Parts: sequence; C-alpha cells; structure tokens
Amino acid sequence: MHGFFAPVFRLLFPDDCRICGQALREISRVPVCAACLKEPQPLVAEFACSSCRTPFVNHFPLDEDGQCALCRLGLTGFDAVYSYGSYEAGLRTLIHLFKFEKVPTLAKPLGSLMARVLPREQQFDCVVPMPLHWRRQWQRGFNQSELLANEIARRCNAPVRRVIRRVKPTPPQSGLTHAKRRANVRGAFALQRGPFSGTPDLKGQRILLIDDVLTTGATAAAAARVLKKAGAKHVVLLTVARTDRRLNVIASSFQQVHSTPAMSAQAQSAAGGTR
Ligand SMILES: [Zn+2]
Ligand SMILES: [Zn+2]
Repeated sequence: MHGFFAPVFRLLFPDDCRICGQALREISRVPVCAACLKEPQPLVAEFACSSCRTPFVNHFPLDEDGQCALCRLGLTGFDAVYSYGSYEAGLRTLIHLFKFEKVPTLAKPLGSLMARVLPREQQFDCVVPMPLHWRRQWQRGFNQSELLANEIARRCNAPVRRVIRRVKPTPPQSGLTHAKRRANVRGAFALQRGPFSGTPDLKGQRILLIDDVLTTGATAAAAARVLKKAGAKHVVLLTVARTDRRLNVIASSFQQVHSTPAMSAQAQSAAGGTR
C-alpha cells in the first residue's frame, strides 16, 4: 500500500510482523508478514529411513531395506511419516507463535505447508488429531493439532474424527532416552467413547494422524497403537516439523574440532579436577 492511505491504514491496523517486526502491509488475520511465512524450508536428507523418514548423517543406521532400527523392530506403530521441515529457525518460531503465544490463525499457513509433503495418491478414511490432555487444552484454549487437522481434512476430503483421548498427562519428555519416553507414554491414550455410540469402530480404516511436532515419535507411536488395536489398517503420521538430530551431530563435531586446549583445561577445572 502506497501514498496517502498507507499512514491511515497503519493507524487503523498498527500491527507489526510478530517474527521480524516489520509493519504488516496487508489486512490479514495472520500477524506474520509474507516473507516470514515463506521462509521455512522443507527438510532435505540424503540419508533417511524409508518408513519413518528420520534423517541421518550417513547410511549406517539403515538396513538393506533402508529402514532404521526403530522401524525394523516395529516400535513406531505407524506405517509412514511425513513432516514438512525441521523444528528449527523460522518454522520453530512459527510453531511457538501458533501454540504458546496462541495465534490460532496460523493453522492455515502451517496446514498448507503440511499438505505439500503429503503424496497426492494417498487416500484416507479420516483425519485424527493428536489429543491433548483436557487440562492442557483448557489452559491453552485450543488443541493445535485439531486446528491443523481441520485444514488437512478439507484438503484430503476426509472427515475429522476425534477417536482418541489422552487419559494421562505426559510429563516433559526432553532429555529422556527413547525407551524411557516409550515407558512414559504407555497407557497415555484411550479410545474416545461417544455418549451413544460406544467405542469407535475403526476396522479397516486408513487414518491420517496429525501432530504439530515429531520429536522421537514415542507419543505418536502410542497413539497409533491404540488406533491399530481398534482395527485401523493403515496409520500415517503427518506433522508440520520434526526434530532433526543430524544438527546435534554436526554441532558436537564442530565443538570437538574447535575446542582449544585452553578450553579443555577450563572444562577440567570446572569438573573439579579429576586428577
Ligand atoms: Zn516478518
Ligand atoms: Zn524408521
């Protein structure tokens, strides 16, 4: 917008982009500028598991079928995973804004990023949002996965079904091993009973499970197992972002290469002088 109307417009809508701080030029319900919405890049990986698409720095964790250890052992519970990008930089900021700063209008642009990575030939009988524990949902005021599921359901022409519920709040998972995380979420989900319909019949259903971020997949796996137990034939997980552990590997090797002898001496004294 130029000329005379621009200052008037800014007076009426004095919003700045919540990410870069630039004044917004268009009337939009999303408080983020077009450039910041366009910034998140899709995840690219030379080496990734053929089933869960976990990216790796080399091919060593993958077997001859291209599967990672978790998929080989059948621990993921779902049949395929699609995520748009890594949970870093611009995408991480957008998700935080959406979920923690409670900007539900971001569901639309985030939903369209997700839709880009879902193969067109995949068909689903229903779209299931990852449930929050009622207390968490009450605190936040909405379930971010449900808003994303609504966006995806419209695009895949399948209904949203809230067939699972979270029966126990999961304590924070960060810093736990994969086995601990699995133990942590055991029994976290149950089928949602309708007031008249009893437990939902999912026999033979192809289900698209929606979550915002995939970390180790332990939580999603627990949900997928409940769906499979209720008869679901195929469970595909779709998320906006996933954590990319390759970045930790790169960061730690960078530290190793660049740590100076002076730093190691300091680290030693900090550790209380082991000798
Ligand atoms: Zn911006
Ligand atoms: Zn895998």
